[in-house]
Amino acid sequence: MKEPRDIVIVTGIPGVGKTTVITTAIDFVKKEHDTEVLVLNFGTAMFETASEKGYVKDRDEMRKMPIIKQREVQQAAGEAIAEKAKTSKVIVDTHALIQTNNGFLIGLPEWVARAINPKTVVLVEADPEKIAGRRSSDETRTRDVQMAEAIDTHQKMCRSAAVSVGTLTGATVRIIKNREGKVEEAAKQLAESLME
Ligand code: ATP
Ligand code: AMP
Ligand code: MG
Repeated sequence: MKEPRDIVIVTGIPGVGKTTVITTAIDFVKKEHDTEVLVLNFGTAMFETASEKGYVKDRDEMRKMPIIKQREVQQAAGEAIAEKAKTSKVIVDTHALIQTNNGFLIGLPEWVARAINPKTVVLVEADPEKIAGRRSSDETRTRDVQMAEAIDTHQKMCRSAAVSVGTLTGATVRIIKNREGKVEEAAKQLAESLME
C-alpha cells in the first residue's frame, strides 16, 4: 500500500456549496491551527487548457463539450493537479461525476485517483430543493436547472463514485451535510478531516 498524501478531495454536485465550504474551512484552519492549506480547483485547471485551445469561453460550457474533449482537458488537469499537490495540506475542489449531454462522466477515473492518492474523499451534500434554490440564486455562474428528483439521483450516484475512489486508493469517504445557512458547521467538519 502506498501511504496516502495529505490531500482531501472535496466533491459534490454543482451548486451544493463545495467552494463556499472550502473557503470557510481554510480560514478556520489558518486561525485555529496556524496552518496554510493549498486549494487546487480541478475545474479551473481544466478551464485554463480548454480556453487556451479555444474550446470554450466560460467554465460552465465545459460539461457540454464532446466527451473526447472533456477527457483530453481532464487528463491535462489531472496531471497538473497531481504534480502541484506535492506540498502538505491540500484540498482538491472537484466533482465525482459530471452530468454531460451523454450521461455521467467519471470525475476521478482510476489514473486520476491513484495519481492524487488522497487520504479522504469528502462528499458535500444538501437537500435537493435547497440545491435547486442555490443554483437559481447564484448569478455568478451559468447553472443547469434541474428538478429535485434528478438532483437527488445525481447525489446518490456521486456516493458510488466516491466509494470507488476509496476502493482504489484506501481513502476514507466522508459525507458532510451543507445545511441551509450553516456553512460554518460544514466547514468545521471539513477542517477536522484536513487536520486529522
Ligand atoms: P460548483 O460545483 O458549480 O463550483 P459549488 O458546489 O462550488 O458549485 P458554491 O459556488 O460554493 O457551489 O455555492 C453555490 C451557491 O450556494 C452560492 O451562491 C453560495 O453562496 C450558496 N451557498 C453555499 N452554501 C450555502 C449554505 N449552506 N446555505 C445557503 N447558501 C449556500
Ligand atoms: P466547478 O467550478 O467545480 O463547477 O468546475 C467547473 C467545471 O469543470 C465543471 O462543471 C466540470 O465541467 C469541470 N470539472 C471539474 N472537475 C472535473 C473532473 N474531475 N473531471 C471532469 N470535469 C471536471
Ligand atoms: Mg465551486
